Amino acid sequence: MEAYKEICRAIDSYREKTISLSHEVHDHPETKFREHFACDLLTGAVRELGLQVETGVGGLATSFRSTFGNPGPTIAILAEYDALPNGHSCGHNLIAGAALAAATGLASMRQKLPGQIALIGTPAEEGGGGKIILLEHGGFDGVDVAMMAHPADCEYSAVPVLAMQHLRLTFHGRAAHAAAAPWRGVNALSAVLQTFQAVDAARLHFRDLARVHGIITNGGQAVNIVPELAQCEFSARAITARHADEISARIRRCADAAAAATGASVEHETICGYKNMVINHTLAQLYERHSEELGTTTREAPPGTPTGSTDMGDISHAMPAIHPMFQVSNPGEGTCHEDIFVQHSDSERAYAAMIRVAKAMALSAYELLANPETLAAAKAEFATAIK
Ligand SMILES: [Zn+2]
Repeated sequence: MEAYKEICRAIDSYREKTISLSHEVHDHPETKFREHFACDLLTGAVRELGLQVETGVGGLATSFRSTFGNPGPTIAILAEYDALPNGHSCGHNLIAGAALAAATGLASMRQKLPGQIALIGTPAEEGGGGKIILLEHGGFDGVDVAMMAHPADCEYSAVPVLAMQHLRLTFHGRAAHAAAAPWRGVNALSAVLQTFQAVDAARLHFRDLARVHGIITNGGQAVNIVPELAQCEFSARAITARHADEISARIRRCADAAAAATGASVEHETICGYKNMVINHTLAQLYERHSEELGTTTREAPPGTPTGSTDMGDISHAMPAIHPMFQVSNPGEGTCHEDIFVQHSDSERAYAAMIRVAKAMALSAYELLANPETLAAAKAEFATAIK
């Protein structure tokens, strides 16, 4: 089909530019809500394509949206570009590159597009829930289908992403001299430690694939003072949002019990929560078909495949969506959030995969616009799945 060739040609001719932009994002890691360099770089590139771009969408300083094409349905391609404290260990520079390249391919024929493309820059996937904020504040208005692709050590058209609740627990005790008058103190750190022990005892009763993991973010103020303030955070994940909520409630009860035991008081706070991913098989199969044409076989991940969480889960509850994983490292040689994945995310192999995935997304998006039956099938499946 001529349109497909034209899209792929445009992506190929923009290849070096996309790779250099993705590399620059990689070189300037910025954590959630601070992605100013990446946002400026990407929106600059979008403007250079002759496209309009709006920044500060949904009140988020580092978000953007560029919508182009002609009246008709709207397919969104999402760019993430936030890093973790250990750098681009989740490869979001590649997500940004793939989205930008896909948009470039589609923009090359924007006069003839049978609908609209929205390239949406979504900040703070790592713990900030940027997509949820955008969704709630109009950033996804008018969008019929959303897609993005994430690097990993595997190749899947769809993965069963876990629902997640991120909790912060703050314990308040009473300071006292730890040697001269410890009986006058209430030890907030003891409450944190007892919470961890109680949560570990509760693990046995969680359903399969549940994940609970925590860190202590404040363990006291000085070794010779009974800690009057201590804080920890937990992530509770499960295959359904309801089970993640149940686990989160259990963690809160553990904290309440630890507070009662130590005499401290506790405040619970939900930092963010992500929903599980509603897999849209129609979209997954569409993406699989275009990947196959480009020489890569990809399938839905089998049930039980280890996975994480993403704010794309919330998008998948609001509209048909896909979040394929593309392979940039070998199994066992490092995957997302490991230090080594910082290197994997800036490799020739990764950039080649990024360009391929950009084409598969762009062709899928084009087909959704050009073929109303495919879009209708994706929407009908979504309507049934979300009931
Ligand atoms: Zn990620």
